[in-house]
Amino acid sequence: MNLMVFGAPGAGKGTQAKFLVEKYNIPQISTGDMLRAAIAQKSAMGMKAKKYMDNGELVPDSTIIGIIKERLEKDDCQNGFILDGFPRTLAQAQALDVLMKESGKELDFVLSFDVPDSLIIERIAGRRVCPKCGASYHIEFNPPKTKGICDACGAELITREDDNADTVKNRLLNYHKQTAPLIDFYKKMGVFAQIDGSQELSKVTKDMFQILG
Ligand code: ADP
Ligand code: AMP
Repeated sequence: MNLMVFGAPGAGKGTQAKFLVEKYNIPQISTGDMLRAAIAQKSAMGMKAKKYMDNGELVPDSTIIGIIKERLEKDDCQNGFILDGFPRTLAQAQALDVLMKESGKELDFVLSFDVPDSLIIERIAGRRVCPKCGASYHIEFNPPKTKGICDACGAELITREDDNADTVKNRLLNYHKQTAPLIDFYKKMGVFAQIDGSQELSKVTKDMFQILG
């Protein structure tokens, strides 16, 4: 199964992707997580990307397409994958299309989580993430069992540097300008599925699995 979780920053893509990983035993490929790992390693690419991320801008297409190409070639992707946070521009979507065709693969579903901007802002303000395994929590809507500690791996939760009010505004602007137009691209491809992502977490999960059958 080749899946994509789609939506604005904070729509719940990463949260729902974890359930897909568990159910289908395929990897979650989050470009955001990959960039944060590159920053943690202080690689040249990571340092360059950080400047864009800190300002809530998109990292240039050439960088992102390069890291995705390399990742999709790995063995663990051969039985399927879950793209999370990629593509975010038409150029990225077109590049993905070429990569998929070259390897004889097809996207099965683009699962799009629709959430109004006002709720996105609340979700991002209360988001806490695990720096070790990438799990995402919310201080009110989805708290960990022990405050500040990841349920999955026991690491101490952090607030992402780019989860601040100013950056979020820019990330949302860029989402509407550069990423939302991909909805039409995937509708035309016949793989687009819309989910009301503003519902409570378990209802969103239920709707998602209903679509997947
Ligand atoms: P994305 O990966 O799309 O950026 P996340 O999965 O990290 O978004 O979710 C953003 C925030 O919203 C997190 O704090 C998460 O716990 C919370 N969240 C995710 N889904 C829901 C939901 N259905 N209801 C309430 N909060 C949610
Ligand atoms: P995310 O973890 O998906 O919220 O992404 C965090 C940040 O990483 C974004 O605000 C962008 O700066 C950058 N980023 C992640 N994925 C992409 C992508 N596909 N294209 C461009 N920039 C990206």
